[in-house]
Amino acid sequence: MALKKEGHSTDSSDQKIQQDKFSPLESKKLEKKTEIESQELEASKDNNEEGFLNFGFNESILSSLRNKGYKNPTPIQKAAIPELMLGRDLLGQAQTGTGKTAAFALPLIERLKDNKELNAKVLVMTPTRELATQVAESFKSYSSESSNFKTVAIYGGTDYKNQISALKRKVDVVVGTPGRIMDHIRQGTFKIKHISCLVLDEADEMLNMGFLEDIEWIIDQLPENKQMVLFSATMPNEIRNIAKKYLNDPAEILIKSVKKETQLISQKFIYVQRHHKLDALKRILEINREGVIIFVRTKLLTISIAEALENSGHTVAVLNGDIPQNQRENTVDRLKKGFIDILVATDVAARGLDVERIKLVVNYDFPFDKETYTHRIGRTGRAGRSGEAILFVNQREKYFLRNLENSTRTKIEEINIPSNKTINEKRMEKLIDNVNKSSLAQEENEENKALIIDVLDSLKEKHSMDDSNIAMAAINLVIGNKAFFVNEDDSWIHKQNNTERNRSNRNGNNRFRNTNRRNNYQNDSYETYKFNFGKFDGVRVANIISSICNATNINGRSIGKIQIFNDYSLVDLPRDLHRETKNKLKRIKLRN
Ligand code: AMP
Repeated sequence: MALKKEGHSTDSSDQKIQQDKFSPLESKKLEKKTEIESQELEASKDNNEEGFLNFGFNESILSSLRNKGYKNPTPIQKAAIPELMLGRDLLGQAQTGTGKTAAFALPLIERLKDNKELNAKVLVMTPTRELATQVAESFKSYSSESSNFKTVAIYGGTDYKNQISALKRKVDVVVGTPGRIMDHIRQGTFKIKHISCLVLDEADEMLNMGFLEDIEWIIDQLPENKQMVLFSATMPNEIRNIAKKYLNDPAEILIKSVKKETQLISQKFIYVQRHHKLDALKRILEINREGVIIFVRTKLLTISIAEALENSGHTVAVLNGDIPQNQRENTVDRLKKGFIDILVATDVAARGLDVERIKLVVNYDFPFDKETYTHRIGRTGRAGRSGEAILFVNQREKYFLRNLENSTRTKIEEINIPSNKTINEKRMEKLIDNVNKSSLAQEENEENKALIIDVLDSLKEKHSMDDSNIAMAAINLVIGNKAFFVNEDDSWIHKQNNTERNRSNRNGNNRFRNTNRRNNYQNDSYETYKFNFGKFDGVRVANIISSICNATNINGRSIGKIQIFNDYSLVDLPRDLHRETKNKLKRIKLRN
């Protein structure tokens, strides 16, 4: 059985779905577009809530959902699943964090469960290998109880061998990035003639990265009569055009969660001069030691910061574009399991990272743009949890801060670098808490309790110690030989805070006084590069973006203005590029 479109009518067993306001019949009758104002992963508010029971999923899917702890569908799942179960095309506007992966994965798994065909039936295209791995992992976990259901991820930056041998065996779903998918199709190692559903995930991101031509090429190779699903965080005209061109009478779903997406994240900023940044970071990590991700601009910086933190006793790992894919996966896994507490990452390397344990995001370097910022802080506050984000701002960047607040329509609250006093109070609080917890735990452990009583008796008898002597000695043992309280010179923190405060007061308490410079963000932090190719070489903006992104670790979104002239092009790129990146730029080739 292929994943054929089954029309939009529902039979009597779908009675409940027909009554639902998101049923295909209903949505066609009223308006094609379903708009839902929703908070991220907000539980459904129906009175007679039956979780996932109404979608017609078989027991193996329901059981995997129970294992994952999903109780109710999120709004996007509630709206999209019935449509996709019927084989309808779908155009969805939703951000990550809304549960959109399950919204398309679950119905596709359900509809493929009895399919005996060996070659792939569903293809999911994603902009990055990180997202490809994540989506493939989701398919695997949702189908973990479905017998012999196979998902394979294919993406660049890794060996072809394993991917080819996985594609040779039975496979149901292939998730991959456009370039590698094209390679496998061209080499004949990815058999596509049974693909009956194509999902474009984060389509706007794929477009930003210049993948439009590749996507269109792939779509043209696939069988004609297939279901098409397109998810995008934003809906620019280019995406609408793709939808118009390839989707057939799609159900349209808009999850308006843009503003609320980050509302569970408490956003703060700290004024810190460049040369005090590392010190400030260490002080913050005194307060939050676990589940932290630190964003920096260059690969080199990820390494030097990680080393410095490791020397201060933290368990740290690095995530940057130079780290091989399998090692990155291993790092994320160790972070999830708690073997690593802190990750120092570049933007590209951490794209799509979904680790519930992350409680704090530190923007060590100011993000290039609003999207990068939103993406960074979205690494915390996952799956409805709360999180905290701290942004380092220097004197020059405070003007950008105003822009950021305006464009994200969020007030970012100022906090101070933790002083010795704050850190010491925190250490004390933690020590008391640990001793208290240990006392409670010991109550429950009869075996240890007997041993401890023996030790106490022995200390009292042989060494004539009383209760308070023993308690003091025990606590001393916990503290260790190192000085317990920080005693470093922290006068620079007080000085810095006072200077900033005075400056703000002098200017009518407006920390963003110089509004004329508001737009200088672009000019200040970008410089123009000249490339020796232009209109005569048939170059387009998308080619330039994808070549730069592929050759370097520059994020597509941080590329500024692009002007293409007859035989050369001018491209605005971030000013602080590393020498290695600049060298890579020199060697860029366009369309061979
Ligand atoms: P996504 O938007 O697909 O990236 O999903 C964001 C997070 O929400 C992931 O960690 C999912 O595991 C989780 N999630 C998805 N659907 C549900 C649900 N119905 N209930 C609880 N968590 C969910």
